[in-house]
Amino acid sequence: LGPEMPLFSVPKEVAVGTAMLGVAFATGMLAGKRYPLIFGTPKSPRSIIGKSSPIRQYILDHSLREHPILKKLRLLTADHPWGRMMVSCDQAQFMANLVKLIKAKKVIEIGVFTGYNALNMALVLPDNGRVVACDINEDYVKIGKPLWKEAGVEHKIDLRIKPAIQTLDELLASGEAETFDFAFIDADKESYNEYYEKCLRLIKKGGIIAIDNVLWNGKVLNPRKDDLAAQSIHHLNEKLLRDARVSISMIPMGDGVTLAFKL
Ligand code: SAM
Ligand code: CA
Repeated sequence: LGPEMPLFSVPKEVAVGTAMLGVAFATGMLAGKRYPLIFGTPKSPRSIIGKSSPIRQYILDHSLREHPILKKLRLLTADHPWGRMMVSCDQAQFMANLVKLIKAKKVIEIGVFTGYNALNMALVLPDNGRVVACDINEDYVKIGKPLWKEAGVEHKIDLRIKPAIQTLDELLASGEAETFDFAFIDADKESYNEYYEKCLRLIKKGGIIAIDNVLWNGKVLNPRKDDLAAQSIHHLNEKLLRDARVSISMIPMGDGVTLAFKL
């Protein structure tokens, strides 16, 4: 398990982070920022560009067009001890643009957490579109579910609370191979290769698989033998480089996201 994937314990710095949160917010507000950064706390999503860097602030100030209910969910998630697991809002917006660009109807999210990106994708899908949202932790998802309803997109989100591998196998068994347009892989890092292989079967030609945290806070540079998450991500990165079934781009956004386009 990497730092993004908590089991039961809450690290010490979370308590400190909680105290800093109010200050960080206030600082952003006082500086008149449109997107007050929650910098310097373990609640912030990981980011390749320093979370408190002025250039990150500039990017957000000049590109973020966040739906008000997404913003509400982001702020609600920031209050969660594991709020840092949430996808960064600019990356979510980028993925929503991709979903729109390819006119996606069916998408998969592996690892929902409080449901920020599930909501983000549901908002841009057509009314008959569907997000198959996979998670094992209903308590996390319960936080965002009321906001899916408030945004009027609850009917587009098909939540499956069970190990994602099982859901993907069920989709394959029910004849849904090659029917999905987009997948976002963002759950337990040790299973990334299996998620990728199953998603590749579920996605249509021309569809996109987005794989999150491919830089794993820089740990992929020299993955320790006992860091199974770093090992797993690094192996998939190496495999993707040579995978003739897809064309790829590794984007230094958030904690690194690889886009694999099925050929
Ligand atoms: N994509 C989310 C977002 O937009 O904010 C963040 C996902 S968070 C990084 C990872 C999630 O994966 C957690 O909610 C965790 O419960 C879930 N998870 C962990 N192991 C899983 C598994 N075997 N199957 C499905 N979900 C799993
Ligand atoms: Ca992630």
